[in-house]
Amino acid sequence: MVNNKGQHPAEKLVYHRQNAWDRMNNSERNEAEVFCREYMGFLGTAKTEREAVEATQVYLDGAGFTPLLDNAQLKPGDKVYIINRRKTLIAAVIGKNPVVSGLNIIGAHLDSPRLDLKPQPLYEDDGMALLKTHYYGGIKKYQWLSVPLALHGVVIKNDGTTISIVIGEKQEEPVFTVSDLLPHLAKDQMDKKMADAVPGEGLNVLVGGIPLGSTELKDRFKLAVLERLNNLYGIIEEDLISAEIELVPSWKPRDVGLDSSFIGGYGQDDRVCVFTALRALAEVGVPERTNLIVLTDKEEIGSTGNTGMESSFFANAIAEIVSRCVPGYNELVLRRVLSRSRALSADVNAALDPNYSEVFEKTNTARLGGGVVLTKYTGSKGKYATSDAHAEVVADIRRLFNLAGVVWQTGELGKVDQGGGGTIAHIMASHDMDVLDCGVAVQGMHSTFEIVSKADVFMAYKGYKAFFAG
Ligand code: MN
Ligand code: MN
Repeated sequence: MVNNKGQHPAEKLVYHRQNAWDRMNNSERNEAEVFCREYMGFLGTAKTEREAVEATQVYLDGAGFTPLLDNAQLKPGDKVYIINRRKTLIAAVIGKNPVVSGLNIIGAHLDSPRLDLKPQPLYEDDGMALLKTHYYGGIKKYQWLSVPLALHGVVIKNDGTTISIVIGEKQEEPVFTVSDLLPHLAKDQMDKKMADAVPGEGLNVLVGGIPLGSTELKDRFKLAVLERLNNLYGIIEEDLISAEIELVPSWKPRDVGLDSSFIGGYGQDDRVCVFTALRALAEVGVPERTNLIVLTDKEEIGSTGNTGMESSFFANAIAEIVSRCVPGYNELVLRRVLSRSRALSADVNAALDPNYSEVFEKTNTARLGGGVVLTKYTGSKGKYATSDAHAEVVADIRRLFNLAGVVWQTGELGKVDQGGGGTIAHIMASHDMDVLDCGVAVQGMHSTFEIVSKADVFMAYKGYKAFFAG
């Protein structure tokens, strides 16, 4: 059956999932490749939330952004940023429309799952010095065994000076590792449930093996590590109590596949959305509505704390912006701005994995290469705790993306009752703004080597630009 234009009704009536590569011509494919090279540079440098803030600040300084609080007043086209405790960053470009008409906001998170050192980490056992860790975020513990780890972080000394530490990123530097049990002796371990096979208290990191001084000395292996740390950084054991040191995979992002269509790397959840949102913001020119990105910390552990999305910092920073844009600022003006804003919660979603297709519901799961993902709701067990985006909001974004030639797809985090997860969408929505989850599909999310498609990274960037312009 065809109509008078020779068109089969299926072409008009049926929604077809698209592959972004099919929609990209050679010049757009080249543009995507260049963009992804830059992204991989960012991802390889920014392995912790503090490093991601630093790398973002460097980028913003180069793009003409200035510290928000240095500006007495703001006018259309002004570009500003503000940083909270080196872990959260908000940047904005002031639009032509009055700020009271609301902002276009993209929120992403800078933190990723990892192993944190405990406040008193160092001990020795059977001729080895080790570091105790407490894992951060939702990890499958076995993925962190027998891989090279780098140590990143800060130590604040008793006199207040900050020591930054990065060891294990350069080829000539040592790395660290958590041992795994040899298969020959793993009979009992292999009989355990996967969740119980590696105890949390077993994630101890090998840090030294040459003893100090004479055999009479106690704790010679631990002492040797302390001496080395003291020589390198001038720190003592008590300094480790006021420190934040994270162990992350030491490898750099790599192309994956014979066609290099994918990127493999640590921390793409959610730094892929951080980088794409950042680039989109830097390229908006003088927008109609004020555009803002909020790059937040602590998403992986519930968005808590004063650097998490639940912190008043978000509303406070917007208050600082609004008060510089309009005379006669008061709280009602701020509340109106928040309420009239629209937001994308830019976070990753799960991509269908052919090796584990049984946990996905194929019709509603995102695909690698399927374009940027619109996720109407997250949550678990009956959409619990989600911010279910209104149909009107989904329609707005769909229209915007279609107009701009952005390839997009829908996503849902696995089969109903298979598990679930959340984002910062519900926290943004609590300010009465409209929010939709929109980000990049990831295979092996929260693993030490997460996979994304370059086409999707590029479509996220293109989609965020369209959102800022809309
Ligand atoms: Mn995330
Ligand atoms: Mn996550």
